[in-house]
Amino acid sequence: MPHIFTNRLGGVSSGAYESMNLGVNRGDDPACVRENYRRLAALLGMERGRFALASQKHTDIILRADFRHAKNDVFDPADFVADGLVTRERGLALVVFAADCVPVLLDGGEAVAAVHAGWRGTALGIAAKALRELGCAPGSVRAYIGPSIGACCFETGPEVPRAMLGLMGAEAEPFIVRSGEKYRVDLKGLNRRQLELAGVPAGSIEVSPDCTFCLHDKYWSHRYAGDARGSQCGAIVML
Ligand SMILES: [Zn+2]
Repeated sequence: MPHIFTNRLGGVSSGAYESMNLGVNRGDDPACVRENYRRLAALLGMERGRFALASQKHTDIILRADFRHAKNDVFDPADFVADGLVTRERGLALVVFAADCVPVLLDGGEAVAAVHAGWRGTALGIAAKALRELGCAPGSVRAYIGPSIGACCFETGPEVPRAMLGLMGAEAEPFIVRSGEKYRVDLKGLNRRQLELAGVPAGSIEVSPDCTFCLHDKYWSHRYAGDARGSQCGAIVML
């Protein structure tokens, strides 16, 4: 199934948004963002890009998307909140945004999902929730976990490990390392483990090794750049 994790490269935006910014609420020139979406559609093999964009608020809300949720223009306002999108519609590309958070894409053959999992979404088990909403046998699902901040750079206070242990118990422990008064948390590993525990075979889960903070010239990292940045995305479509 066509899917992609974008990075900063290959678009037309300039300044803080140089160059492949797909964020629609970051202050970038709309004409540039529209051209970037045209390029994204081409990369996905779509003749006419029909996109449903997540409206992300660090929730665990999964929306069953159809063409009513497709944007005619990517700057049209969304009238829903969802950090995960699921669809069975062919030709509808699902898009989630990330700039350190974890983008997760699921391909169930008959349905696809795109999920935004920051630490809060991860602690709410949003990837496994999206897997259930797919309605496909977990054993036949392929999962792709995209570039995001790695355990090398994601230093947190105690609230993050506490939330992960609250959801997953001892299963979360291998992904939390104490670092003085702080912790380092492997969000990609936690999402991978949640999907495995929900029945996706380990061999069917691909995890990007890239850390957005370490590789801030290639990716947008919120922790590195703050608000003056664009957004990359994860996108998947059934054609
Ligand atoms: Zn790093």
